[in-house]
Amino acid sequence: MSGVSVGERTGRDGTRAERTSVVIVGAGPAGLTVANLLSAEGVACVLLESESREFIEQRPRAGFLEEWVVRALERRGLAGPGLLKAEAHRDCEFRLDGEQHVFRYGALSGYGHFVYPQQLLVTDLLRAYADEAGGDVRFGAGDVTVQGIDTDRPAVSWTDTGTGERHTVACDFVAGCDGARGVTRAAIPESRLRVSRHDLGIGWLALLAQAPPSAQRVVFGLHPRGFAAHMARGPEVTRYYLECPPGDSPDNWPHERVWSELRARLGADGAAPLTEGEVIERRVLDMHNYVVEPMSYGRLYLAGDAAHLVAPVAAKGMNLALNDALLLTDGLLAHYADGDDSGLAGYSDACLRRVWQYQDFNQWVSEILHGPSSGDPFRAGVAAARLRRMTRSETAGAALAGLYIGSNAEY
Ligand SMILES: Cc1cc2nc3c(=O)[nH]c(=O)nc-3n(C[C@H](O)[C@H](O)[C@H](O)COP(=O)(O)OP(=O)(O)OC[C@H]3O[C@@H](n4cnc5c(N)ncnc54)[C@H](O)[C@@H]3O)c2cc1C
Repeated sequence: MSGVSVGERTGRDGTRAERTSVVIVGAGPAGLTVANLLSAEGVACVLLESESREFIEQRPRAGFLEEWVVRALERRGLAGPGLLKAEAHRDCEFRLDGEQHVFRYGALSGYGHFVYPQQLLVTDLLRAYADEAGGDVRFGAGDVTVQGIDTDRPAVSWTDTGTGERHTVACDFVAGCDGARGVTRAAIPESRLRVSRHDLGIGWLALLAQAPPSAQRVVFGLHPRGFAAHMARGPEVTRYYLECPPGDSPDNWPHERVWSELRARLGADGAAPLTEGEVIERRVLDMHNYVVEPMSYGRLYLAGDAAHLVAPVAAKGMNLALNDALLLTDGLLAHYADGDDSGLAGYSDACLRRVWQYQDFNQWVSEILHGPSSGDPFRAGVAAARLRRMTRSETAGAALAGLYIGSNAEY
């Protein structure tokens, strides 16, 4: 393995120049996984993050990890006790016209989800990399720029927002793990990539409530007034979603309106009433998807939301980010172990196979969730037909369960 250590010198212009093997931009689930796995094998890396440690350890986002990804992290020593003991979900429920329709995807596929809030995973991975392994991470890295990715000696520069000092690190590879609003993707010439976008044309009001879950499983409410969802985020906190116009303001959703819409859209005969609580986060997501192809150019490899966004319909984004990170690490480790570059050469295609399967499944489910509120009776009819097929046909249900849990997405 390459144990290239970071050295430092100050250039004539006062910028501090260093050298390492891999620069990873972004300390989300993707970047932290790459950083941990590379440093565990002695490959030197520098992890750059624009935010502070406190901020990223508290940023609430995803919460559902597919079992195959948890097992993959466990095999590599990256699943902490909190994750392995997390609550497991194996069913979800749709409510339409007052009726409950349960989709038993765990029984159909043999796998389940682990309910583990993203900020806890980030905290675990950061502790393992920075505190236990002594990994190099620079928080507050502003104005990150990537240079020379089409040469064999790329470099990444940034400004330390604490001191104002500009730094540059020369490296062998750059891992662009800086999420949907990151900057690394812009280093790829526009003529060398294709960005496919799909806008769902709707908004989701994403809410976090300081309230215990009101059901044992995820609940999707299909309603003419708009979709709604209930998802556990632990014993004391629950995520809710309400469909709203794109670009709507969270200020249009005071406490009373939120809970009365949730009660109406998630109601069903025989269902337990919602346990209400203070709304501690309110933000509007404009629901859209994109895929960047290829996911690499020269010495830059994109991973996670930097390369693809999946609207959080079927809880796919964090799982895809981790899949990319595992494949990228395998490719980089093979390069450093014995000069085998086949993994890096096939990285983009290998990731994109799962990405497109997940995008397709997300689209398919999205029509079930949004058809009933579209105002179009044709779309509402299609949604109801899909729901019946999913929950009543064992053959169709098994195939869809595999896609929901990601156990059959390698085509
Ligand atoms: C409300 C919501 C709910 C979701 N629910 C789910 C779910 O249940 N299941 C699921 O699988 N997915 C879900 N997702 C998606 C999931 O959160 C993302 O797919 C996941 O965060 C992607 O991880 P990542 O590491 O690629 O990017 P990120 O987590 O976005 O990490 C990127 C990091 O890069 C940093 N950064 C950005 N720009 C720069 C820069 N210029 N320089 C340096 N650092 C930079 C950011 O601060 C961040 O720390 C949800 C998303 C949202 C918003």
